[in-house]
Amino acid sequence: ASFWPLASTSTKEKLLGGLLVPGFNERSCLSRYHSAFYRKNMARSPSPHLIKRLREHEALQHRCGPGTEAYRAAAARLSSGHPNATDGDDAAPGACKYLVLVPYRGLGNNILAMASAFLYAVLTDRALLLDRTTSLGDIFCEPFPGASWLLPQHFPIRNLQNLTGEVPESYRHLVQSDDAAASVSRRRYVFVDLDHSCTYHDKLFFCDDERRFLHRAPWLLMRTDGYFVPALFLNPAYQEELDRLFPRKDAVFYLLAHYLFHPTNKVWGLITRFHDSYLKNSDERLGIQIRVFDGDTPFQHILDQILACTSQEHLLPDVVTQEPPHPSTTGAQSKAVLMTGLSSWYYENIRWKYWQSATATGEAVSVYQPSHEEHQLSGYTTHDMKALAEMYLLGMTDKIVTSGWSTFGYVGHGLGGLTPWIMFRPENHTTPNPPCQRAKSMEPCMHGPPFYDCRTKHGADTGKLVPHVQHCEDMSWGLKLV
Ligand code: GDP
Repeated sequence: ASFWPLASTSTKEKLLGGLLVPGFNERSCLSRYHSAFYRKNMARSPSPHLIKRLREHEALQHRCGPGTEAYRAAAARLSSGHPNATDGDDAAPGACKYLVLVPYRGLGNNILAMASAFLYAVLTDRALLLDRTTSLGDIFCEPFPGASWLLPQHFPIRNLQNLTGEVPESYRHLVQSDDAAASVSRRRYVFVDLDHSCTYHDKLFFCDDERRFLHRAPWLLMRTDGYFVPALFLNPAYQEELDRLFPRKDAVFYLLAHYLFHPTNKVWGLITRFHDSYLKNSDERLGIQIRVFDGDTPFQHILDQILACTSQEHLLPDVVTQEPPHPSTTGAQSKAVLMTGLSSWYYENIRWKYWQSATATGEAVSVYQPSHEEHQLSGYTTHDMKALAEMYLLGMTDKIVTSGWSTFGYVGHGLGGLTPWIMFRPENHTTPNPPCQRAKSMEPCMHGPPFYDCRTKHGADTGKLVPHVQHCEDMSWGLKLV
């Protein structure tokens, strides 16, 4: 296991090929500049244009973020109930505009939503601010130098978590009004609802040409729990810029995640101690992420699915049942298996399999699972810390098997730059056949995509419009970048 480039990591590697800026206090957030020590080479490098736009965006967050005069003025206008200052055609040049993200559901959902909202903020020159009702502020360091991305406590709009597409400020209503542009100018803010329950009109947001309509709103509030980047790639308004930002379309999440998500020191301790104790010294590491959507009790058909997938895809060796076993050779390969899941039952079974019997190959297989929380308790800091540590550790493996439909799994493989083997979601409590499939790319799947072609203004199969946006392996109607 000599490929963790410990001593030789140069400044360029430390800054992830220019993705990060130097100058942050290192000790206050060790993961920011130390993650490169724990990673093999970057799976994809940032383009020069992405680096340039990130630096520009940092300047924008600095100029407009909480604590600035611009923020105070914009927040005051919002609380005064006055329509925004941009009743004219265009916002004053350089005026600050904001995107407030209201993330919800589990941590995987939150992370995908944050990455998507950030890209949208970059594309539309808005400062991104996060609603802080969750544990996000405890588990992630600030990504922007000299500016917080957390929404200040005294934000004029209360109970952001309760906003729905039903409010008069929603995009759904504005887009249907006779003079949408004028309606936007009359509202204090625009609320974009991208929840699963959102409607056809909410999803027209994905076709919105920011330069004509939404740019009038200094405050955009958004509720989403998922990865909506594939839909941005379908909007003609952003195509040219996205092509320049991401010449390769399969690593958008990978690059955004490496820019944005730096675990706080407590979480980084969980990650590095586990890595150093259990993963570092093996010849190979396999991640297996188990997410069961049918309840928290263990299921035989899911254990069977994991075993079938890892055997068919030659990810884990077979065992010999007959005595005497393969004589153990010195210098045999060692394989560490990192399992994650709410239950420890699958882990116990697989560990017992390789304890009870020898492998046909002579490999030594060690099986680990950092935690078994039994139930989802999103929002509780210690619980979310473990979840983040485990997603991050999954990304430190060499190969990974994930559970279909799980945003936890998407983050794990996406962070690691790993193209996963995805286990299909079982139906009727039966092991699917085939149990899993190698994915087309390392990108997450968008679960609630639009079914509308922005160009023709008609319904369409959005997985067929451009070659780099295709349907997902694990969800036939979902969309992913490839
Ligand atoms: P999804 O529901 O699979 O799409 O993933 P989310 O991360 O959005 O929500 C599931 C939540 O359940 C996680 O955020 C954790 O709080 C918890 N959870 C699910 N699986 C695991 C696991 O393997 N390890 C830990 N520590 N928590 C998990």
